Amino acid sequence: MTYTHIRALAVVVIALMESPELRGQQDDAERKAWNVPVAPFHIVGNVHSVGAAGVSAFLIVTTEGSILLDGGLPETAPLIARNIEALGFRLRDVKFLINSHAHYDHAGGLAELKRLTGAVMIASGPDASALSAGARDMPAIVIDRVVDDGDTVQLANTTLTAHVTPGHTKGCTTWTMTTSDGVKPYRVLFYCSTSVVDRLVGNTGYPQIVIDYEHTFKRLRTMSADVFLANHPGFFGMEQKRKAMTSGAANPFVDPGELQRFVTRSERDFRDVLARESQSR
Ligand SMILES: [Zn+2]
Repeated sequence: MTYTHIRALAVVVIALMESPELRGQQDDAERKAWNVPVAPFHIVGNVHSVGAAGVSAFLIVTTEGSILLDGGLPETAPLIARNIEALGFRLRDVKFLINSHAHYDHAGGLAELKRLTGAVMIASGPDASALSAGARDMPAIVIDRVVDDGDTVQLANTTLTAHVTPGHTKGCTTWTMTTSDGVKPYRVLFYCSTSVVDRLVGNTGYPQIVIDYEHTFKRLRTMSADVFLANHPGFFGMEQKRKAMTSGAANPFVDPGELQRFVTRSERDFRDVLARESQSR
């Protein structure tokens, strides 16, 4: 193998490693590992982790109820429900369900969570179509409200803004909000995903996929956040940060440089895959 071949192979391996969706559907063991229960905990302000070891779910609590972001795999739903109750909150107080994107590992549990909570399900246009159609391991769910780019979801003093950042899915939605730990405000960003799991070149089902990724990276490079969160805990080092949390010390989840470091790495991976696919045509 030439250096070019080795490099191309490395790109494929890295792309697969960073594309849990692709690996997971074939790999029951890994899927079980994603769904290992994790005790729920407070992240920052009114934001809590209620997900599993490999798939995130976030509960944003207000005086008028709460908002749940993502539902994990179908088998994560009961675990998320237990985590919400373990934190002392009631399922019936979840008012809104929102989603990062319409893939089975983040939307698979939503239909069951909607049944358990009675919450209003909100999604961006293109992903709303995918969610209401359903797919393998992603039971169809009724979408009660469709949001466009820049629309907000408001509950008490919390406002979540939808940023449609397509590419990974056609309606991939990055959500932002501001929270506070007493005196200091923190801008929190829930990253959708910019991993490449679909063909970039010659993708007849999604012809504008490369244009969408390009726009999304450009957009993400203009954004900033004090707290970077994402739908796979490994993407933001959740476990290490949780272990590093000690009362009185600085919150390890606050890292204003993390979003841009992640975007830079992800964009480099995207360009590597794009170059490889373009060469092999
Ligand atoms: Zn995905």
